[in-house]
Amino acid sequence: MTAHQNKSLPGIGGRSFAAVREVVATFQRPVVDLACQISSIPAPTNHERERSRVVAEEMRARGLADVVIDDLGDVVGRIPGKKRSPSLLLAAHLDTVFPAGTSLDVVRSNGRVTGPGIGDNSLGVASVLMLPCVLDELDLGPNVDVLLTGNVGEEGLGNLRGIRSVMDLFPEIGAVIAVEGHNLGRVTHVAVGSRRLRVRVSGPGGHSWGDYGKASAIHAAAEIVTELARLTLPTTPKTTLNVGMFTGGISVNTIAPEASFVLDHRSVDDVALRRLSERVDAILRMPRPNISTSVEVLGVRPAGVVSPASRIVRLAIETLEAMGISPTGDASSTDANIPISRGIPAVCIGLTTGGNVHREDEFIDVAPVVNGLTQLVLLSLAVTDELGAGSIAPIGAKKRVS
Ligand SMILES: [Zn+2]
Repeated sequence: MTAHQNKSLPGIGGRSFAAVREVVATFQRPVVDLACQISSIPAPTNHERERSRVVAEEMRARGLADVVIDDLGDVVGRIPGKKRSPSLLLAAHLDTVFPAGTSLDVVRSNGRVTGPGIGDNSLGVASVLMLPCVLDELDLGPNVDVLLTGNVGEEGLGNLRGIRSVMDLFPEIGAVIAVEGHNLGRVTHVAVGSRRLRVRVSGPGGHSWGDYGKASAIHAAAEIVTELARLTLPTTPKTTLNVGMFTGGISVNTIAPEASFVLDHRSVDDVALRRLSERVDAILRMPRPNISTSVEVLGVRPAGVVSPASRIVRLAIETLEAMGISPTGDASSTDANIPISRGIPAVCIGLTTGGNVHREDEFIDVAPVVNGLTQLVLLSLAVTDELGAGSIAPIGAKKRVS
């Protein structure tokens, strides 16, 4: 046991983390069972309804107050605190990257559970749902209201629409903890912003021999991609660009009338992202003889940073250290992007170890779930304690960009 491990944390009435962990350990099995149940319900991004319905039922069964499902399918329930606001939001996304029809069987063996979306993010949803029961068993209440959400639209082209809607509907939210099943020990406090575009290029087409010399959509699209790939991007702040899909043409002896490609560009800094967007747009707008180009914006995710010295990040780090886990700071695109970009302190935390994320053979390790759930309980109580005391301040400085 390290020196850290004897330390108490705010919000748990002077109890040691070990005492809390002992109670939480009795919930390990129920949480994993619930995660298996949730992951058996299909929830591709934009088709989360069935999972929303079940999560709402589970919230009601656990005695949560004011359970609502919004127009998009976000489910929100409330654990009443001593004070109502500013409240803490615990957000676990419901959606998965797996299309309808994917077999969602779950296999348990050798201390692992394997199944599509089991860690990303069924375990996250199950842990958030279990929180009220754990707090009851510990006989601990939060200092301010805790809102729990299973939200839609986090993956792929969901564009974080679920968390945007929840943040809009509950302006009393003063801090957010986004919860993911994987990556126990990681504290995401830098929100990677991104912009994703589909570019369609059209030309006159024609016979490759008879009409030789006419403009080709594929040749033009390839030229554009080459120009984009030649852009020099800053390494600090880290900024990237990728053309991830390219399609077009009709046959080997036809001058291509159509071509299209999809690109994303990202940065940890909103200004760098905006500058890059301007350069990308300038290339896309450049006139090309007999070629027309149209651009569809598929998604925009705002960037932002919560300082490593801020209270919420410090609490996340101290909680992990108290449990003997070395924390890693991280930059990523998660539900935390939206609160962070709106100046609301937020982090994203993980619950266990595992692997093969976004693959059908995704798995989680069961044993570390006790630590993950203990972390969630301790951090939630610590943050509500400090929200109640007024010591978690808005990030300020960051502009609203969503
Ligand atoms: Zn996820």
